[in-house]
Amino acid sequence: MAFRCARASLILFIVSLACGPISWAEISPVKYIDISPSVVMAENPNGSNLTCIALDDGLVFVDTGLVTDIAADFRSAMEQRFERPAKYLILTHGHIDHIFAMAAFSDVEVVAASSEQPLFENQIAIEWNDENAAVYSRIFPSFADAVETAKPFLPTVWVDGERTFGSGDSLAVFATTGGHTTGSSYVWFPSEGVLVSGDLVQVDKYPYFGDKTNDLDLWIKALKSWEDMEPKAICPGHGHAVDKTYLRQEWEYFEALIAALGKLKANEVPIEKAVVDESLPTAYWPDQPEPRWWKYCIALCYNPLVSLSSGFARRATP
Ligand SMILES: [Zn+2]
Repeated sequence: MAFRCARASLILFIVSLACGPISWAEISPVKYIDISPSVVMAENPNGSNLTCIALDDGLVFVDTGLVTDIAADFRSAMEQRFERPAKYLILTHGHIDHIFAMAAFSDVEVVAASSEQPLFENQIAIEWNDENAAVYSRIFPSFADAVETAKPFLPTVWVDGERTFGSGDSLAVFATTGGHTTGSSYVWFPSEGVLVSGDLVQVDKYPYFGDKTNDLDLWIKALKSWEDMEPKAICPGHGHAVDKTYLRQEWEYFEALIAALGKLKANEVPIEKAVVDESLPTAYWPDQPEPRWWKYCIALCYNPLVSLSSGFARRATP
């Protein structure tokens, strides 16, 4: 039990680095964006975006954000609009900002990658006492409100690799790539060319790649494979919807980062200097304050064994 609590605390600490601090001024209402005739994305500053895909035989929702009431409102609005019930909730990965509001979908099948099960189990084990909630409140100002109604639970359908939902031509494909976390997955709706990416695409912000199971090679591979699929629109984990040109910006940045860090490592540059070296690639995202966790992400790429108790992690702690 003590071990379980310690593990949960560790995961809380790791995931607490997952999103940059945002101020109250940045909090804005959720916006429902029509992506295509059958897809609506709730662009959400309170945790992850939520997406609804209207299949002929029911609605598929992807990710929940943090606040149960917001997720429930979105579900209800989509059920009215498309005149059919929710059938599945798909979770792209186990980070809390994507799953915390899942109680709004407690009566439907909840789908996630089998390889993500350990992260889900750790997240569910977190006790949301005042101390833990305070950590998240510094990242998401609405978190204290979210805790009051949050009842996260384990997914009910674990998928190995790939599974198709729907019938006839009305299909949504769930598949796992890894990259951002071990079991990071996406949803592809081929009939309208819409891809729901989870955090493998994070728009107009510093991308978070500080999970211990992060794998930039797999991440790049996923982005390139999506380019080949010619999506018309991509619903990201955070930020506004984009087209496929955004994928290239991302993978070119990651490739340049890996190459630069490789050279620095070959020259045995100390990690403290490597994370700020001028040879690192320039940002593809708009100018903004650097998140506390940013240097930790780079340090983790430079040395996967970098300790959470290192100076990088301490500087990253919200
Ligand atoms: Zn994430």
